[in-house]
Amino acid sequence: MTIFEKIIAREIPAKIVYEDEVCICFHDIAPQAPVHLLMVPKKCIVRVGEAVAEDKETLGHLMLMAQKVAKQEGFNDSGFRVVINSGPDSGEEVPHLHLHLLAGRQMGVPLA
Ligand code: 5GP
Repeated sequence: MTIFEKIIAREIPAKIVYEDEVCICFHDIAPQAPVHLLMVPKKCIVRVGEAVAEDKETLGHLMLMAQKVAKQEGFNDSGFRVVINSGPDSGEEVPHLHLHLLAGRQMGVPLA
C-alpha cells in the first residue's frame, strides 16, 4: 500500500482540497512553492511509464480536475505548473502516479 493509498483510506491525515470518485487532491507535505498540491488517482496507476490504454479516461480526468482545483483555489488565472515524475531519473519518490500542481510564484526553466 502506498502512502497515497493510506491518505485515500484516511489512515494518515492530509489537507484535502478536492475529492471525487476517481481522484483526490491534497497539499504536499514538503511544498516547493507557495501552493503545492498533489492530484492522485484512487486507482493506483504506478507511473506514466507503466500506464495502459484503459487508464486513458483516468489520466484525462486528472488533467481536467487540475483545472477545476486551480479555479477553486484561485490560481488558474495567475498560472501553475503541472509536474509528473516517472521513474528513477525523474526523482520519483512515491510509486503511485500523481500530478504536482505548483503555483504562487514564478517558475524557472529549466527544472532543477
Ligand atoms: P514524487 O517525487 O514521487 O513525484 O512526489 C512525491 C511527493 O509526495 C513529494 O513531493 C513529497 O513531498 C510528497 N509526500 C510524501 N509523503 C507524503 C505524505 O505523507 N503526505 C503528503 N501530503 N505528501 C507526501
